Amino acid sequence: MTISVVDLFSVGIGPSSSHTVGPMRAAARFIAEHPAQHVDIELRGSLAATGAGHGTDRAVLLGLLGHAPDSVPEDVEPRAGDPIPAEGTLPNGITYSISFNVEPLPEHPNAVIFRAGDVEERYFSVGGGFILSKAEIDAQSRGGGLGSGASTTGHTDDVPYYFTTSARLLAMCDRSGLRICELMQENETALHGWEPVEKHLDRVWATMQECVQAGIHTTGILPGGLNVERRAPRLYEQLMRNQEHYASDNFGAMEWVNLFALAVNEQNAAGGRVVTAPTNGAAGIIPAVMHYAHKFLPNFDEVEARKFLLTASAIGLIIKENASISGAEVGCQGEVGSAAAMAAAGLAEILGGSPAQITNAAEIALEHNLGLTCDPVGGLVQIPCIERNAIAAVQAINAARLANLGTGIHHVSLDDCVRTMAETGRDMLSKYKETSMGGLAVNIGLPVNYTAC
Ligand code: SF4
Repeated sequence: MTISVVDLFSVGIGPSSSHTVGPMRAAARFIAEHPAQHVDIELRGSLAATGAGHGTDRAVLLGLLGHAPDSVPEDVEPRAGDPIPAEGTLPNGITYSISFNVEPLPEHPNAVIFRAGDVEERYFSVGGGFILSKAEIDAQSRGGGLGSGASTTGHTDDVPYYFTTSARLLAMCDRSGLRICELMQENETALHGWEPVEKHLDRVWATMQECVQAGIHTTGILPGGLNVERRAPRLYEQLMRNQEHYASDNFGAMEWVNLFALAVNEQNAAGGRVVTAPTNGAAGIIPAVMHYAHKFLPNFDEVEARKFLLTASAIGLIIKENASISGAEVGCQGEVGSAAAMAAAGLAEILGGSPAQITNAAEIALEHNLGLTCDPVGGLVQIPCIERNAIAAVQAINAARLANLGTGIHHVSLDDCVRTMAETGRDMLSKYKETSMGGLAVNIGLPVNYTAC
């Protein structure tokens, strides 16, 4: 089935869509399909390498308890950051064992195996909270796989405007006279009916606003042991105390964008309620840019928020179909790069950009994140993730404004850029793909010993 805005933006909990949301869904699916009294869980590849820091062990136990990411209470036991015993009994009586094996399965770097009696199921968390069973991922790789340009979901007639590339999207906008958000609305209406989609989009925007509010009003140290202090509350206080100064400062809006992104990503790092947009590691970028539009542009209401999200989802769909939104597959370019591209496109729409200018905005934002590695320190979604969202949100605004001042004609198309991301991701060493075995994750705090400069 065609990827929908409902799939790309879902309400969940932090800190990771691939390592928390996806595994929780996989566990809930397993226990619903195979009710059992005892389950052995084996986390494989990146889910094992950074699973403890990303709360993957906690997430699968919550899934076995029947919780879903969009409704699990934020304060449920075990709490985010609590140590998870290797064996135990859950409140619903299910006993479990959980093990970590960093050796990846051949199909995908993020795998979880559930065994109950003589039943064994393998699930793959392919980014953004999406999960695939063994049969589903095998079918997908027969269709082409990462960066092949082949649709990962298969062509169907379920939408009136089927596209997987920006070239086709632009051609259909041209022929139909529709804006990207209008075309997406037609597709979503065909898939789900407009009313449920409208409701979903409104819940997404409301959750983003609640998340920012929670983030700017919660102080303290983030869980996980890195001793990272939340910065959003102090920044908020500074902005409120010096409102006059920031109103006359040309970069005053940027300080607010930083605040919005930090607030969301600190909530995410603490295991709080966030919108996966399109992943949790990059969950702050789209809300920060939407809050920018809300605070600094005239008339940004629920209708504009829906247009923003629909436009952004068209870009997310193209990236997911032709490359990846998973840090474990292609590095951080797939998470932060994708979110920046989607945010830039959404803002370009709100600023009145043409379809060509909108795809140009997405391309600019993505192009300058190409090659970005994933190297979370301590396996936690904190350093560099939190600050990286703030920087990328500002970059997305810049990309949208730059594109809307142009003609829409550009040398590098969005499709070229997405293809480059897929190719760069394939060539990237696995130590830079959400394993915490390279980059900042192994260099932070080392003594400086440069001999040349
Ligand atoms: S470095 Fe980027 S891809 Fe990796 S966990 Fe952080 S936000 Fe996600």
